[in-house]
Amino acid sequence: MKERPSFPARMPASVSAKIAKPSAVLNLPQGLGMDSSAVRRRMVEKLMAQGLSDLLVQQAMGEVERHRFVDSGLANQAYEDTSLPIGLGQTISKPSVVARMIELLRKGVDGRLGRVLEIGTGCGYQAAVLSQLATEVYSIERLRGLHDKARENLRPLRLATVHLLFGDGMLGFAAGAPYAAIIAAAGGEAIPQAWIDQLAVGGRLIAPVVGRANGQSLVVLDKTAQGVRQTVLEAVHFVPLKSGVA
Ligand code: SAH
Repeated sequence: MKERPSFPARMPASVSAKIAKPSAVLNLPQGLGMDSSAVRRRMVEKLMAQGLSDLLVQQAMGEVERHRFVDSGLANQAYEDTSLPIGLGQTISKPSVVARMIELLRKGVDGRLGRVLEIGTGCGYQAAVLSQLATEVYSIERLRGLHDKARENLRPLRLATVHLLFGDGMLGFAAGAPYAAIIAAAGGEAIPQAWIDQLAVGGRLIAPVVGRANGQSLVVLDKTAQGVRQTVLEAVHFVPLKSGVA
């Protein structure tokens, strides 16, 4: 008679190796187990090498688990500096662009930003990063499917200060105004007047805007008591800002 295995049964190493480890389920680089913080730390180090100097932004980028915001099949690319598809023809922004834009928003601000308006929630990743750095985040998405997806992605994080809104972000969200900062993740022909109106005096807005040569550039707009001042920065590639909902 065959001897029954003692309990708990030990699996031969060759068998246990074939059973998916959490890191394999997430498709994360091997050797990280359930903890992806080491990959994120490496991502932040690369962002720092590219010029990210704001300590609070570094911390926020190191904190938010980007792999939770993309399909599991893409999770192994989540910490590369690349945009990735999130469905309905939209993309999650590159980590370097998220970090750069938030660093620009925070320039000259000590501590947390006040209320922030984000146009283009997408999968909710940037809203989660913003929640680490702002007292309140209002984020608008015009595509119902992505608004729902962001809600699902953010639910386990229980971020009480993030408010997801379904609607046309070109109109802003007047009920939450004035905003200390406004950030757009989609590029239009011009900055909608509603955003400028809803920005607090002393506030800053950052958005990709299509320029004359048809490419987009990052535009920073500062609203002061004397008026608005716009600065055109580097070329960027965002999905188009569209009006209406779908
Ligand atoms: N913030 C996301 C980026 C999503 S891509 C991230 O964390 O990666 C930009 C999003 O802007 C898309 O989901 C697109 O549907 C949305 N968008 C485009 N025009 C919009 C509008 N007028 N109002 C709200 N969302 C808009």
